[in-house]
Amino acid sequence: MKQILIDCLNKIELNLIQEKINQLDYLIDLTLEKNKVMNLTAINDENTFIDKMIIDCVFLVKFFDLENKSVLDIGTGGGFPGLVLAILCPNTRFTLIDSTSKKIEHVNEVKDKLGLTNVNAFACRAEEFIKQNREKFDIVTARAVKNLQILLELCSSFIKISGHIISYKGSGYKSELIDSQNAINVLNLELIKEVKYQLPLSKEDRYLLEFKKNKSSSSIYPRNYNQILKKPL
Ligand code: SAH
Repeated sequence: MKQILIDCLNKIELNLIQEKINQLDYLIDLTLEKNKVMNLTAINDENTFIDKMIIDCVFLVKFFDLENKSVLDIGTGGGFPGLVLAILCPNTRFTLIDSTSKKIEHVNEVKDKLGLTNVNAFACRAEEFIKQNREKFDIVTARAVKNLQILLELCSSFIKISGHIISYKGSGYKSELIDSQNAINVLNLELIKEVKYQLPLSKEDRYLLEFKKNKSSSSIYPRNYNQILKKPL
């Protein structure tokens, strides 16, 4: 058991049952081990990984209630935040997608090793996955996936009316928000919550942005990826 993980959880005042701490501990080992042979994260140092990946992902549950919801994590990579949140919220159903199949293979391995029964992971692009999953989810999460303007187009069609997008962001988020004004309008979204928090070891600031979908948007969204990149909303 990594003492630093326990110290960080204490610092952010999150009390977890022992089983969840054990699962987080195991997730750290499995990710850093696999990171030696494939690129899951740029971070290799264990303490930095705990601070900037694990605890960063964990913070969401301090501010948002995911209990009994259906959550889609888009561009989950090695399972961030999807696997972390699935450990913390066993009664919530998580769907994780990423366009890189090797990352999803790893996510499925970890899911089995941790015994997580509330996770389904698919190797699929968001623009493809939408075909069977329009307005299916209560919440979409995304961390370190594109800029906000592009991300909102990728995410918004997956959520039900009155559903929410929760995006993890760094300090550049204010200018991303300005650039996203048109996307927010066109997609019938509304920014309803901005949360600032501090990572316990690096002391760096991070942000969570929550958008609500007030009504359906046109079924042309998300457009194909080239168009999204070439002509962002
Ligand atoms: N969320 C993870 C990974 C971020 S890297 C983390 O915080 O560590 C961004 C990931 O998004 C990559 O793994 C990439 O494969 C995936 N991605 C980018 N565009 C995508 C799309 N259109 N559909 C699905 N996944 C996408």
